[in-house]
This record gives sequence, structure tokens and C-alpha cells, in this order.
Amino acid sequence: GELQDFDLEIEENLAERTLRPQYLAQYIGQDKIKEQLDIFIKAAKLREESLDHVLLFGPPGLGKTTMAFVIANELGVNIKQTSGPAIEKAGDLVAILNELEAGDVLFIDEIHRLPMAVEEVLYSAMEDFYIDIMIGGGDASRSVHLELPPFTLIGATTRAGMLSNPLRARFGINAHMAYYDIDDLTEIVTRTADIFDVEITGDGAHEIARRSRGTPRIANRLLKRVRDFAQIKGTGLVDDEVTRKALLMLDVDASGLDYVDQKIIKTMIEMYRGGPVGLGTLAVNISEERETLEDMYEPYLIQSGFLIRTRQGRCATAKAYEHFGYEYTGD
Ligand code: ADP
Repeated sequence: GELQDFDLEIEENLAERTLRPQYLAQYIGQDKIKEQLDIFIKAAKLREESLDHVLLFGPPGLGKTTMAFVIANELGVNIKQTSGPAIEKAGDLVAILNELEAGDVLFIDEIHRLPMAVEEVLYSAMEDFYIDIMIGGGDASRSVHLELPPFTLIGATTRAGMLSNPLRARFGINAHMAYYDIDDLTEIVTRTADIFDVEITGDGAHEIARRSRGTPRIANRLLKRVRDFAQIKGTGLVDDEVTRKALLMLDVDASGLDYVDQKIIKTMIEMYRGGPVGLGTLAVNISEERETLEDMYEPYLIQSGFLIRTRQGRCATAKAYEHFGYEYTGD
């Protein structure tokens, strides 16, 4: 029933919160970003100033939200969380800004999806900590000047290219999150297993890490599903053999490509002779949103060498042909 769903939701939120590292030292991977932030945060604290605005970009599930909370913790300030699509009118943003205290962090996820009218209010707020708002309508309308306390805006976006130039220019710190390597993911899986009290072998953690598409959120999700499998079909221990069986059932292949990844490549090869094919055409063919393909699937397929972008469109690589057992016909 509804109450039970509610309990479940609370449990999920609790799990999510305990899963999230609280401080830079607990945050696994992204060493370069951590090193830079550590310096900028210490310097801001030393000068008793607010930290410069931070733009985090990278595919979903890489730890942008987690990093925003870590930054606020390290600064010792409050954080308010919202998202681009959630702020519909300039007034919504004004209400949020109005509640900030000096030094606070405002985290806006999917910041590339802010409506233009809202984005324009943000410019002066970010640059000089004030906003000019219009009150009333028609002849009675007048402009009101509102001073804001210094604050830090942390924006997260899946693609840097989708941000307007004036907005991008107002971020003093840019952090490009990279896919995680297998060692870092193994550490994340081991840590999550520890938090959830899952018995796991080193090989088991490594096997899950290897198939997580470089993404902590996927690593944590696969661990949960493999744990279920281990409890019902095995002894509860997560080792590499149970992991392989569970992931076979979940359609996650040996390279960690999931059902949609596989469908993308197979469609390219079977219907378009490996390409070039446009992303929009592909999206229609496999019934996914173009944006989802572009944000979640394409970057990993490119990074792992299964797909390349050319001027004419996307092409499957020789590696992709070989991986799926097709004879390569290209050059
Ligand atoms: P994003 O905001 O980029 O979509 P999140 O911050 O929501 O990603 O992270 C997704 C999940 O992965 C969360 O459960 C988080 O706890 C976990 N996670 C992300 N980065 C790390 C990390 N560096 N170390 C440990 N867990 C991480």
C-alpha cells in the first residue's frame, strides 16, 4: 500500500545517504578534481570567503550530486538542492536565493535545463550577489533591487556543450568528471558491500566493477541485484561465478554493455552496415529518447571503443563487429 511504499522510500533515501561519501577523503576516484577542490576550498575558508561557483559535468551516475554535498560538508555550510526543470519561473529562483545564508551552497542539478528567464536572473546573482526583480504588472510594475549574501552555486550538467556561454562564463571552477577505472570501482563496490553487509570476494567485487560501465551508480545497482541472486540461487556469498551468472540473467555482457548498448550496436551493424547513421535515426529505431542515447549511452560506447563519431554520423568500430561476432566489412 501507500504507507509501505513510503517506508520503502525512506529506506531507499537512508541507504542513499549512507552510501554517499561525506568528505573528500572518503570520495573514491576523480583524484585530479579532488586535489584541485581541496586547495580551492581551503583557500576560501582561510580568507573567510564563499567558494567560487563550481560547474560539474559528466554522464549521469558519476558522482556529481555526491561531490556537491562533499563540497558543502568540507566548507561547513548548508546546501540547498534543486534542479533546472524544477525552477519554472524567475520567482521560484528568487524564493530559493532569498533563503540562502552567507557561504551556503546552492546545488542545481541539470542546470542546462533552466528556462531562459530564470537563467537571466542567475547572472547578476552569481556575479555580484544581487537580483533586480519586477513586481506588479502593467503601469504599476516596478523594479526591486535585492542584495544577496555571498553564496556558492554548484551546477551539474551531463553535457558542457548544452550550457549557454554567459552562464558557463560565470563559473570560476570547472570540473569534468571522468569514467572511473576498474580499481576505483572495485573499491566502491567493496565499500558498498561493507555498508550493506554483503559478503563479497575480491574477485566478485572486481567482476562487478569491470561490468559497471565506469559508473558508480551502475556498480552499486549491479551489486544489489547480484546480492539478490546470491541469496536466492547461492549461499549469499558474492563471488565472481555468482556475479557472472547474475549478470548473464540481467543481459549485462562480458564488457558490461547492457541491453540498450547492445541494441544500439547491433542496429547500427544490421540495419545501417555499421554506419554512418544519425543519432536521431538510431533513437527512433530502438525506441529511446535521443537525449538518453547522447547522455548515457554514446559517451561510454565511444570511450570503450565500440563507436566513433564522424562528420557524417555514428559508426560502429571493428572492435564492435568483433565483440558481437559479426564479420567486419569496413576498412
Ligand atoms: P550524479 O549526480 O553524477 O548522477 P550521484 O552523485 O547521484 O551521481 O552518484 C550516484 C551513486 O553513486 C550514489 O549512490 C553515490 O553514493 C555513488 N557514488 C558516486 N560517486 C562515488 C564515489 N566517488 N565513491 C563512492 N560512491 C560514489
